[in-house]
Amino acid sequence: MRQVKIYDTTLRDGTQAEDFNLSLADKIRIAQKLAQLGIHYIEGGWPGSNPKDKDFFAEIRNYDLNGSRITAFGSTHHKDRPPESDPVFQELLISLAPVMTLFGKSSLFQVREILQTTPERNLELITESLAYLKPRVEELFYDAEHFFDGFKDDRNYALKTLQAALDGGAQCLVLCDTNGGTLTSELIEIIKVVEERFPRAPLGIHAHNDSELAVANSIAAVALGCGQVQGTINGVGERCGNANLCSIIPNLQVKMGLECLSADNLKRLTEVSRFVYEVANVRPNRYQPYVGKSAFAHKAGVHAAAVKRNPKAYEHIDPTLVGNVRVIPVSDLSGRGNILMRAQELGLDLGTHDAAVRHALDKLRQILNLDEGVNLPPFESNVKTVLDKVKDLESQGFQFEDAEASLELLLRAALGQHKEYFQLQSYRVIDQKGVGSEPPVPEATLRVRVGMHEVHTAAFGNGPVDALYNAVLKALVRFYPRLTEVILEDYKVRVLPGMRGTGAMVRVLIISRDGHAWWNTVGVATDIIDASWQALVDSINFKLFRDEQGANK
Ligand SMILES: [Zn+2]
Repeated sequence: MRQVKIYDTTLRDGTQAEDFNLSLADKIRIAQKLAQLGIHYIEGGWPGSNPKDKDFFAEIRNYDLNGSRITAFGSTHHKDRPPESDPVFQELLISLAPVMTLFGKSSLFQVREILQTTPERNLELITESLAYLKPRVEELFYDAEHFFDGFKDDRNYALKTLQAALDGGAQCLVLCDTNGGTLTSELIEIIKVVEERFPRAPLGIHAHNDSELAVANSIAAVALGCGQVQGTINGVGERCGNANLCSIIPNLQVKMGLECLSADNLKRLTEVSRFVYEVANVRPNRYQPYVGKSAFAHKAGVHAAAVKRNPKAYEHIDPTLVGNVRVIPVSDLSGRGNILMRAQELGLDLGTHDAAVRHALDKLRQILNLDEGVNLPPFESNVKTVLDKVKDLESQGFQFEDAEASLELLLRAALGQHKEYFQLQSYRVIDQKGVGSEPPVPEATLRVRVGMHEVHTAAFGNGPVDALYNAVLKALVRFYPRLTEVILEDYKVRVLPGMRGTGAMVRVLIISRDGHAWWNTVGVATDIIDASWQALVDSINFKLFRDEQGANK
């Protein structure tokens, strides 16, 4: 089977997108996730361009990436300095990345206007830079920047730059549609010329999406024989984005029968897509092909009925191949749930043939790590309650994909395993700002009941939510000393569009950890402190419940 290598540049080209920012820790987490997916090359950044990218290469060396290779990106050396005394160029070697991708100019316009050198000097720069790196790295690729535009400008010169890269020792010539303006029909003709001229050279493709053709162009290039595809998760990238690997990979693997990832790893695609959105705190695109929430949703009526008879009726692939799920309208499900409930009330046993019930039970077993054999009778009668509750919360803006701890608490409540560790009586948060430039002073006072005790505390904080957290911790710690182990690792706020004519809602996601585990909790309200409070309470309850479970084992 022909193999195609996937080269991810989410961490470099992807971060050029507006509103897509990653911290060093985010980049490390995404790299690990990409490695789990089995991506062949993970481009970590341009070490010469900023300190964060430099730090990434130092840090990522400490992680085992299951065979995925870290790649450093950089440009040809400075036109007036040799490689050994060009500090930006030297950063590439300092990164110690095993693979390097060097980009050079293919277009005369770019050479003269932007690089401001002669066409001959540009060719020298390409060959010299690559030849310098070649003995110092394990693999070396050449990104031919603006290749298609350069070709249209002056094809002889563009082809000469590729020859220069081969002379320097490049192991793959990656043809870049840097401005994203090339039509697929043009791209096909140009690649054919390149293949005629360099029949034995391995080729790659790097497409941008300015004409909304990045995926189509990448697929066409592979069909013509390109063996490496560069792109980003969810197609994030400068301007309109890069080629979207979440579409390219299943197209290549499922439709064209090419080998990219293992079939098992392909099932992680949806998870990875959503993970990257969440890490960057960007709302996922539900209409995204293959991995979006709506990609296999069938909205009521004839379609849903047909899909239930045979999914092929309105689905181009089986959603489970990419780890996505078929969505049948919830209203339809709850209708069925109603029937089930009514039947139970009347003492008629309909069994659990209902797909909604089975699905909910499977999901519950999965979340709670229960064996097939474990019976869940109290839950079955509560299936509709839970489904309705989840549906209702989701319509308010809750999302549970990345808030497993909140979902687990909800499901346990349905199983009657809910335990109330404390009860809020009231809280009050004051944020006092005076004249001048002094920062405001946030203070929270809190009344909670723990069993028979009523506790009243007050605390300051770095912000109103921090003050509230300090106050609740102060109140609970003498009853539950292990709460001091909890660290609030991250706090993410998203404003949700107004629903049902109400004002905007705020969704707060809190990521907590202790010495053993990480957990995410969520809260939604029109009031940011209320939403934060919900997520805080879930975090505390989850910690206490987990510890208790652990102690009982
Ligand atoms: Zn690019």
